[in-house]
Amino acid sequence: MAGSKPLVIGNWKMNLDFVEAVHLGQQIGVMLKVKPVEHTEIVVAPPFVDLRSVSSIVQSERIPIAVAAQHVNDHEAGAHTGEISVPMLKRLGVEWVLVGHSERRSLYAMNDDVVAATLRTVVRGSLRAVLCVGESLDVREAAGENDFVRAQLESALHGLEPKYHEFVTVAYEPIWAIGTGLTASVGQVHDMMSQIRSVLASLSLTDARVLYGGSVNDENAEGLVMEGDVDGFLVGGASLKAESFLAIVQTCDGCYALKR
Ligand code: PEP
Repeated sequence: MAGSKPLVIGNWKMNLDFVEAVHLGQQIGVMLKVKPVEHTEIVVAPPFVDLRSVSSIVQSERIPIAVAAQHVNDHEAGAHTGEISVPMLKRLGVEWVLVGHSERRSLYAMNDDVVAATLRTVVRGSLRAVLCVGESLDVREAAGENDFVRAQLESALHGLEPKYHEFVTVAYEPIWAIGTGLTASVGQVHDMMSQIRSVLASLSLTDARVLYGGSVNDENAEGLVMEGDVDGFLVGGASLKAESFLAIVQTCDGCYALKR
């Protein structure tokens, strides 16, 4: 880790209706009361329709987690049927937004220009953006991952006004590792973390945290934190159960304490 406090984000994707989402939020709250976390920031990203309920119980039950949206439109308001805006999210107490998740890019045609515009809309609205980047298996097999990820970072972040830099977190999520059970090796993650940090430095974003995502679980998390040099995780499947999600959080917390 680069010295920053760890961050673990649970991406619930299109899972859990609002009753199930509240239940999971409450379970996380109870477990954090029994075993509090000292250093790690925790964020959950429920589906849009669950945001109000989850945000309400987080506030009323004082659960020490923040709430993220999985996506947002890059416009403020208007004729965008089916879309959700940053001001709408803010009214619900949402503080974070995932930007350019690979599923948005590949399934919903979110190209680099839209990712860059969305990131700007998010940070200008004072929400925290988690910029997701990562290569496909074809690109990795052709040894093109560094150039690919560099291009994604530069496209999204080049020219971003410095006053917004503090609102940016990066998540490296190789597409071939998302939801597949194939985790990138510690060495692959370590190399990519260095590469991403050097690109971020060239863009003057030296303090941005860099997370890893892709089949993270309570068994592989420790190696990735201790040797992969990550600042935390973006977790999909394993975030749908309080036990497995918090095991990853506790691992990050313990490793941070050891490494300080
Ligand atoms: C994700 O969707 O961001 C993700 C990393 O999913 P999983 O942990 O299930 O691979």
